Amino acid sequence: MTRILVLGAHPDDAEFFAGGFLVRQARAGSVIRLVSVTNGQSGHQSIPQQDLIAIRKTEAAEAGAIVGSPYITADFPDGSLQPSLELRHWIIKEIREFAPDLVLTHRPFDYHPDHRAVGQAVQDASYMVMVPKVVPNVPRPPKEPIVAYMVDLFTRPCPFRADVVLDVSPELETVLDMLSCHRSQVFDWLPWIEGIKDQVPASTR
Ligand SMILES: [Zn+2]
Repeated sequence: MTRILVLGAHPDDAEFFAGGFLVRQARAGSVIRLVSVTNGQSGHQSIPQQDLIAIRKTEAAEAGAIVGSPYITADFPDGSLQPSLELRHWIIKEIREFAPDLVLTHRPFDYHPDHRAVGQAVQDASYMVMVPKVVPNVPRPPKEPIVAYMVDLFTRPCPFRADVVLDVSPELETVLDMLSCHRSQVFDWLPWIEGIKDQVPASTR
């Protein structure tokens, strides 16, 4: 695989659910584009939303730089994402313009409605991306990409089935480096929402 597009719902989803694979492929020379469909504006207990949008863009860009990739945070609303026609057409445009060999996304079975919405929208886009008269102002790519799901642990209505298994343990330190760029999330918001903020040290980055 030489060109990989990750369509996650939030800044950090790519690292959490496909980080080892992405680091491995970056080392092998793949061209990677990381996308968070939402802007991350809702995932914090106190920072104002407009400030959070800018913080999440900065943190994501730092994480992407570790694997030499741009990390796009689009402006669909965090926490209120719908698998709308607007989102489907935006995804078709993203896929056509980047022309990936592989697209990774969430399954449409997940605890988080934003993850489900992205998974559904990518599924809806995956055939239409090759139909020229849909989003006609953006030419279709030279070949249809493979669309695959990032790993998850959900079992209902059907469990994840691994078609490809790779040993990414040598990449874990780099994945942790990427995740630690998301300071406002992994050291702050996520421990807060889990009720374990007092057990987590402050970020040293
Ligand atoms: Zn997420």
